[in-house]
Amino acid sequence: MSSHTDCLFCKIVAGEIPAKVVYQDEQLLAFHDIAPKAETHLLVIPKRHIENLNDLSHSDAELMSHLMLKLPEIAAQQGLTGFRTITNTGVEGGQEVFHMHFHILGGKRLPGF
Ligand code: AMP
Ligand code: ZN
Repeated sequence: MSSHTDCLFCKIVAGEIPAKVVYQDEQLLAFHDIAPKAETHLLVIPKRHIENLNDLSHSDAELMSHLMLKLPEIAAQQGLTGFRTITNTGVEGGQEVFHMHFHILGGKRLPGF
């Protein structure tokens, strides 16, 4: 498992920084965002360090389909019937933590985007 010593989310995966984990398996970790921007705000990450969507290659196809299919399951486990998924890519995309993550936002009806 590649772990980047300076990466906040690698530290969460390694258990070096606490997080409110709601789901994990061999490849993925899901936990509550520390500064929620909706009633429910989760982050879903690959355990392996991948910077963002720009960092993906075709060899990640299985991981990415697994992640995508888990999003609605994790949302449902948290009682969400509808939700919004966001992933920010790069500085220009508003990314602040450079370990790929998918935001799941929900809980109340969200405003249109
Ligand atoms: P982004 O702007 O897409 O890179 O989002 C980074 C997200 O990580 C923000 O929503 C932060 O609130 C969240 N975040 C930062 N530090 C932590 C932490 N220690 N535990 C959980 N979420 C965090
Ligand atoms: Zn990382």
